[in-house]
Amino acid sequence: MRYKKQMFGTNGVRGVVGEMMTPTLVLKIGAALGSMRKGTIAVGRDTRTSGEALAHALKAGLLMTGCSVVDMGILPTPALQYIIKADDRFAGGAMITASHNPPEYNGVKVIEADGTEMADDEIIKLENRFFADEFDAVAWDGVGRETAAPERIEEYIQAIVRHFPAGIGEGMTVVVDPGSGPAALTTPAILERMGCRVHTINARIDGTFPGRLPEPTPEGLQPLSEMVIATGAAFGVAHDGDADRAVFVDNKGRYIEENYEFGLIEDYVCRRNPGGLVVTPVATSRLIQDIAGKHGCTVDYTPVGSIYVARRMIELIGQGERVSFGGEGNGGLIYPDHQFCRDGGMTAAMMVAVLADHSGKDLSDLADALPVYHLIKEKYPAPDPGALVSVIEEAFSGETIERIDGIKIIRDDAWALVRESGTEPMIRIMIESGDPGIADGMYREIMRVIGQT
Ligand code: MG
Repeated sequence: MRYKKQMFGTNGVRGVVGEMMTPTLVLKIGAALGSMRKGTIAVGRDTRTSGEALAHALKAGLLMTGCSVVDMGILPTPALQYIIKADDRFAGGAMITASHNPPEYNGVKVIEADGTEMADDEIIKLENRFFADEFDAVAWDGVGRETAAPERIEEYIQAIVRHFPAGIGEGMTVVVDPGSGPAALTTPAILERMGCRVHTINARIDGTFPGRLPEPTPEGLQPLSEMVIATGAAFGVAHDGDADRAVFVDNKGRYIEENYEFGLIEDYVCRRNPGGLVVTPVATSRLIQDIAGKHGCTVDYTPVGSIYVARRMIELIGQGERVSFGGEGNGGLIYPDHQFCRDGGMTAAMMVAVLADHSGKDLSDLADALPVYHLIKEKYPAPDPGALVSVIEEAFSGETIERIDGIKIIRDDAWALVRESGTEPMIRIMIESGDPGIADGMYREIMRVIGQT
């Protein structure tokens, strides 16, 4: 299922601005993309200080290969994806963003005409053109034209609001923390139009990220928690730097771990669409399986990475399967009735629907009612990580093992996932059980095998 990419990771290409990430690099990505997808390309960016410069470079590359460019300005990645999907005129798109990475980073996510992120096999073709300088530059009379359409962000806001009964959020106070990112332009508007009373924090777009870093961590969301308590809000919602993810604090100001967030929303979505498949990577909590089972749904596992989840959902639907829901255990959730990519604005809106559906119950009650799982997450250095994964696989070969991404050893009361790190000479170990003692025991078993090598 996995191919070897050289420059792009699971969610685009990223690097430190002025070091790896330069206008020259982005110009060549634009030229490579333009050579592959002739037509009109939609371009957007998050709020990073380097966004404007890199967007100009990207557009130059596209225009010189004869593509026309529509610049959507600053907007969330899922907003750009929605606009591209909804308008047949677009042959594709590109988003200048480094998602949750610190302010000094930036990058490019390449979007297909159907609004999904470009798949590995096409990314490899794009990389090949990039490295070979193989661009279809046009002559003076073929150069593309650029227009701007920042107002089209409104289509995304409306698409989400339309999804829910009018006034569903009435009587609900919520706090939104877009982290100075592009969700400042969308999530408060979405929740307000659903009827919520909306307070905001870090809601002025600012590429220096003065309030908190683009990654929404429990520490960084402390001010959000305090504001939720001070305003008596039903919940607080925060986004990462390009708002394809959303994370929550409950009415007591407590951070909701993202697997539990997935479970809470899955329960709502699957109740309305029972008996289908829920698609998620092998690293997601067993909680997702428990909740799927409650609604007659089955979990279909993919390699780690949202693009594999989105592609698998599309593939399954193409095979005539019913797909109820999908997502990752990091606050990146995918709604097949809306679009096949993670959508933080839609996730914020869904939480309003979840609470409206359980009138009289607080989010803290709903979160506390979920089964508790204990997760151990470790890294272990290995000069040959692939060989070490094989040794562990051999040691546990008498058990149920899934090989979707690395190896997953599955027991009735626990599972362990052992994978090669894509970036360092390490293996990553994840173990989950409802019983912390059992999780610990399984971890020790794996460490004993490693100790014998
Ligand atoms: Mg992101």
